[in-house]
Amino acid sequence: MREKLQNLKNEALAQIIQATNPEELENLRTHYLGKKGALAEAAKELPKLTPEERSEIGQLFNDAKTAITDALNSKLEIRNLKLEIKEDLTLPGTPIAVGLPHPISAVAEEMNDIFQSLGFSVADGPEIENDEFNYNRLNLPPDHPARNLQDSLYLREPDVLLRTHTSSVEAHILADHQPPYRFVFPGKSYRYENVNASNHMMFYQYQGVAVGEGITLANLKWTLDTFVKKFFGPNRKTRFRCKYYPEVEPGVGVDTDCEFCKGRGCAVCKNRGWIEMLGAGMIHPNMFKKVGLDPRKYSGFAWGMGLDRIVMTRYGLRDIRALYNGDLIYKI
Ligand SMILES: [Zn+2]
Repeated sequence: MREKLQNLKNEALAQIIQATNPEELENLRTHYLGKKGALAEAAKELPKLTPEERSEIGQLFNDAKTAITDALNSKLEIRNLKLEIKEDLTLPGTPIAVGLPHPISAVAEEMNDIFQSLGFSVADGPEIENDEFNYNRLNLPPDHPARNLQDSLYLREPDVLLRTHTSSVEAHILADHQPPYRFVFPGKSYRYENVNASNHMMFYQYQGVAVGEGITLANLKWTLDTFVKKFFGPNRKTRFRCKYYPEVEPGVGVDTDCEFCKGRGCAVCKNRGWIEMLGAGMIHPNMFKKVGLDPRKYSGFAWGMGLDRIVMTRYGLRDIRALYNGDLIYKI
């Protein structure tokens, strides 16, 4: 009986190894493990044995059954794995079409590099804002007339909205960081606008802030003039005009000389010879007071510019929608 079981097991394992398809393996399973299979037949002889023999042979009987079952399952598993790996992994790969960064990302990266070389870090903030950070902290209380300048997109009136400017990031930086610090923060802003060639309800801004002790308007002028010369070319000129923005005092509008007419006057610059590039100013003392900083000790400057306009100038685009409609074959 012992020999018979041993032979049965060896014979079964040899046949399983030689089997080449799943049908053959299933036939072997029925032949050896089925209700009327070889093992079941052999088991019929168990009652004829003495109790001692029965215990020993019973053990061998179970061993044979386990070995055959495991061998069948392993062979099926290996076969399935082989079916999954159909490709020849040693062949050279198919080249993947690699795209380019979106023009907005490319220009933002370039500007980040320039400002990082001037000691600025890149920051980010939420696009869904509350009234506090989008307006109040920026010196725009509920009754401030400047709120009428913007048509806000509210998610839940009156306090949850899509940020109308990236100045909200400045409010977060002032609240979260201890001076001195310097940050730039490119990002999307949202306003209720009629979408046309020059306006979009979603647009990019590029802003920055520097706060510390003893920071003056001279630092602002040097930083922004250096940026313009590094980004547009060493011969570009800048001029600073007085301008009003609620979150700064004093505020300045920064122009560059028109690159199309070199300052002589043309249709692009409306014969002014200058193009408005960005708005800036010294951070309003109220902004510091709101975060518990003493405006007599700390000062700083902030600026903001429309990133889309700069991208459109750089790539010669005449329609802002070209940046957002995903049309890959836009003709300039
Ligand atoms: Zn011009």
